[in-house]
Amino acid sequence: MFHLAKMTFSEVERVRSGDVLVILPVGVVEEHGAHLPLGVDSFAAEAYAESAALHLEAKGYTVIIAPTINYGVARAAIDFPGTLSLEPETLRAMVVEIGRSLARHGLKRLVILNGHRDMHHMTALDEARSMLESEKVGQVLCVGFASDPEMTAACYREGVRRFYNSPRPDREGHGGESETSVALYRFPELVKQDILKTLEPNFDYDVDAFRNETKDYGSISGGRGYFGWPQAATAETGKQLVAIRGRNIANVILNAWGTPGS
Ligand SMILES: [Zn+2]
Repeated sequence: MFHLAKMTFSEVERVRSGDVLVILPVGVVEEHGAHLPLGVDSFAAEAYAESAALHLEAKGYTVIIAPTINYGVARAAIDFPGTLSLEPETLRAMVVEIGRSLARHGLKRLVILNGHRDMHHMTALDEARSMLESEKVGQVLCVGFASDPEMTAACYREGVRRFYNSPRPDREGHGGESETSVALYRFPELVKQDILKTLEPNFDYDVDAFRNETKDYGSISGGRGYFGWPQAATAETGKQLVAIRGRNIANVILNAWGTPGS
């Protein structure tokens, strides 16, 4: 697996003629409770990209991971200090222009792996995919959190439920057990362990408003910024989630594009 920003142009030249695909992780800068850093969604997308790449390479693809887009649309949490939000058009344009540049160099399979759930953000990524496809610059897939709920389920929910420790897995969400587990596994140095120990469960919130993004995170969570029970998280759960979601994402890509030579 290659990381594009760490490659030389001559390395790109060498691999581009083969069965290569590019994964573009997309995250955001957004609050995730007082215990997690603002970059959780970017860091998680990178973890899933590397996990998926192992499976794709085992099937014969060469995988190049492009530098993460660390900015996105984050309107629901915009009142929390540090949360940054782009206009959807800005995000869409970034993805389209990155896709065009990749295609110019013969890198014509692009996987947009999104780690941030926000409807406007996901729609912008979908629109970028359609624009690139209508320009016939190559094949593009949106995986991870996607506007198609079946895609999100196939990538993130399939096979993970048994690893949850939370008594209310149906109430786990933003900043809760899943994201905290991935953080404890992948970037524990950025988790505020002393704060994590003090967090009460947040199960009693307006689930519809959370899912449909009709109210802001601050008011739905009583200012806490997390949904579910972060204290239920463990690094071991995070390890399983990264492994399984990476495999899920690889399977989605292989189902769409097949294995090289097939
Ligand atoms: Zn998140």
